[in-house]
Amino acid sequence: ASEQHLERSNSMGVNLANDDQLRALAEQINAEAARPWRATPLVPGANPAGADSAVTSPADRRQVVGHWQAADSATVEQALDNAVAAHDGWNETPAAGRAAILEHAADLLEQRMPQYIALCTREAGKSIPDGVAEVREAVDFLRYYAGQARKLFTPEALPGPTGESNTLQLSGRGVFVCISPWNFPLAIFTGQVAAALAAGNSVIAKPAEQTNLIGYYAVKLLHEAGVPEAVLQFLPGDGATVGAALTRDPRVAGVAFTGSTETARAINRALAARDAAIGVLIAETGGQNALIADSSSLPEQLVKDAIGSAFTSAGQRCSAARVLFVQEDIADKVIGMLAGAMAELKVGDPGQLSTDVGPVIDEDARQILVDHAARMDKEATLIAEAALDDDAAHGCFFAPRAYELKSLDQLQREVFGPVLHVIRWKASQLDAVIAAINATGYGLTLGIHSRIDETVEKIAAKVKVGNCYVNRNQIGAVVGVQPFGGQNLSGTGPKAGGPHYLPRFTTEKTITVNT
Ligand code: NAP
Repeated sequence: ASEQHLERSNSMGVNLANDDQLRALAEQINAEAARPWRATPLVPGANPAGADSAVTSPADRRQVVGHWQAADSATVEQALDNAVAAHDGWNETPAAGRAAILEHAADLLEQRMPQYIALCTREAGKSIPDGVAEVREAVDFLRYYAGQARKLFTPEALPGPTGESNTLQLSGRGVFVCISPWNFPLAIFTGQVAAALAAGNSVIAKPAEQTNLIGYYAVKLLHEAGVPEAVLQFLPGDGATVGAALTRDPRVAGVAFTGSTETARAINRALAARDAAIGVLIAETGGQNALIADSSSLPEQLVKDAIGSAFTSAGQRCSAARVLFVQEDIADKVIGMLAGAMAELKVGDPGQLSTDVGPVIDEDARQILVDHAARMDKEATLIAEAALDDDAAHGCFFAPRAYELKSLDQLQREVFGPVLHVIRWKASQLDAVIAAINATGYGLTLGIHSRIDETVEKIAAKVKVGNCYVNRNQIGAVVGVQPFGGQNLSGTGPKAGGPHYLPRFTTEKTITVNT
């Protein structure tokens, strides 16, 4: 355990309680935010045609943050050719050399934190604390996978019969496509890319369309740190065209995907339909995450953790709590406190430190939430709705809501935003609650609030999830400390930020020599 502890070096934070540090950070963020941001495909030898599109702020659609240009089909082809040609050289670079480049990128990113926080705030509508966490997680991924590569790529001598030497060697698989979502536009984007590169693959990265700028500047930083431009290419564009063209191409050895379960299925089908080597898919997908509280839980702590888990990042975290199962003995008290706490939430400009909840990513996302709320208004009981700030008028805002439901069956799919659903349960129904959660088919995070060890152990053992949190919030997994990822409809594994992730990006060779 102590060895593991020494290997871990999570990144430096910012003390947001220190006024001087905070003022300096705010000034730097504001200065960075004024830059003329622009993202284009980063593909050596390509001349992408096509006009720029404007990127506007989710917090205020009147504000243009920057511009981006999509990859056309000739650029996609060129990127695939480049990636194939670049693979061997990168794969033959010693793992320690690859790791050193990633560690250099981590240092650069840490130094330039304000620039990347500014991008996260402006392009993705992240609050400043979320922006800090985003940069730190990206730094952690770079260092963690670099450390893993140093360790794993040391050839392992295996015990065998006398007169024979046996060695197990790892190597990159080939061309890896990394497809990421907008909700962790820097952390997940960088994490996928860092793992694929550390393992010796050449990489084509396709960000979510809402967060092209962040992806572009992450790739530029990796190039500056020393990753060759043909080894890591950037291909912004529509998922259904650029993403689909990449995943059906026989030159691609594997795909690292994070996003919705539906898209993961589409990619899985595209990989399977190719007349090529069997492609690897690492998919991290959605959840319908529950928080189970029994009557022994502490209501103040429970409400604080439920609010944090449901509404941080405007509920746009795959780990967010969607359903609070509260035991009936404490339900009235907890629901009353929840309504009180929601009345205190400040929903508005993510650039202000006093803001608790910023915008959702775009108008489509907001409309889905509006439609869900309209259904809930008919089928459930509204517990509370937070108030919107006046400055929210021009952005994609959806004020957090809580509803009381009768049954989990009333939620058919993941609700990706700041809506918490509350269901009461009786002591005799714990097994039914567990069965209902497992019946959703999702299995990402679970929160448990209870002071009874037996109850905690039973729930933790029986609910099929990837990450289980007891008597705390259920978001914010830390790289190398809380490996993250789910099961069933929530993903294939292995867990990001855990010891089994990197090997999935590799192929293994055993060399046996008769000595
Ligand atoms: P999404 O719609 O599935 O998009 C994810 C990525 O896939 C985007 O880059 C998208 O490109 C691309 N894409 C879309 N269709 C494609 C296709 N046919 N072939 C290849 N790529 C395609 O998901 P999202 O709305 O961005 O993200 C939210 C979802 O991610 C939620 O379900 C959330 O729970 C999940 N998530 C899971 C984790 C986890 O670790 N388990 C972490 C974060 C988020 P476009 O942007 O161009 O459409």
